[in-house]
Amino acid sequence: MDGALLAQKVRTEVAADVAALRQRGVVPGLTVVLVGDDPASAVYVGGKEKASREAGMAGETIRLPATTSQAELLALVERLNADDSVHGILVQMPLPKQIDPDTVINHILPQKDVDGFHPVNVGKLLIGHTDGFVPCTPAGIQRLLGEYAVRTTGAECVVIGRSTIVGKPMAALMIQSGPLADATVTLCHSRTRDLAAHTRRADILIVAAGRTRLVTAEMVKPGAVVIDVGMNRIDDPTSRTGTRLVGDVDFDGVRRVASLITPVPRGVGPMTIAMLLRNTVRAAQRSVGA
Ligand code: NAP
Repeated sequence: MDGALLAQKVRTEVAADVAALRQRGVVPGLTVVLVGDDPASAVYVGGKEKASREAGMAGETIRLPATTSQAELLALVERLNADDSVHGILVQMPLPKQIDPDTVINHILPQKDVDGFHPVNVGKLLIGHTDGFVPCTPAGIQRLLGEYAVRTTGAECVVIGRSTIVGKPMAALMIQSGPLADATVTLCHSRTRDLAAHTRRADILIVAAGRTRLVTAEMVKPGAVVIDVGMNRIDDPTSRTGTRLVGDVDFDGVRRVASLITPVPRGVGPMTIAMLLRNTVRAAQRSVGA
């Protein structure tokens, strides 16, 4: 499953929506806040900034020192909440230890929370209300399933990982009634007894554990659809940088068994950024009742 190709398609759709909003005098604006100098976060933020600019949005990244206090960050969030030109606010995680991430997320207006992490948006997702924001990685995976015409209705869907950003919202999406959902969902985690017994039942297996080679071919049912969310950097003396990005799934082994599989890179990763743009345009559209 080519996530990079589909992400390009989503970005083209988003650019068309941005152009339509611009004609009405509205320029969708995404503000990303980066606190500290974590190198991985800087790379993610750079990618989001570039993508939003390419889609014709008014992107801004606010970089704050690692010594920023929680009160200072909350004051910034309040200023962005009140700014009508800012439709989406994203505070990049992780935050320095003096700042409580939940307090910050709770401060962002739900209608500007394009990450979909605010309790109001989490609740809407669980209830099945469609006027909230769905976290970008699960939303991107659902779109991939749709693009490849994967039958989800009645399917056994096994999700590995119960994080708030991937595993839990993924499960919440797939248990809803409606298109690209209606699955029977099993959520596995590090305390799950006999992981392979669950994965072997899966028609759709979604792996978000952050463990290299957690899923191998003998754990996968023939013909299953396998979505690899993992992003693990491993040593690779043959690469120019000395490292290489791999997922949680043994790609070469599992591709022989699965009917569809996402690679790493060029799988779920590009879809995450594309859905962030989609959420931001939606925030801008809703702000003007479009
Ligand atoms: P996380 O917060 O560390 O959560 C990992 C989850 O996996 C936890 O629920 C953990 O269980 C479970 N787990 C760990 N080892 C396991 C094992 N051996 N068997 C079964 N379950 C196990 O990670 P995350 O933020 O969800 O991210 C997961 C991976 O996806 C990471 O590699 C991350 O870099 C990647 N990611 C990629 C994207 C993208 O756009 N491609 C986006 C987000 C994350 P416990 O809860 O019991 O500890």
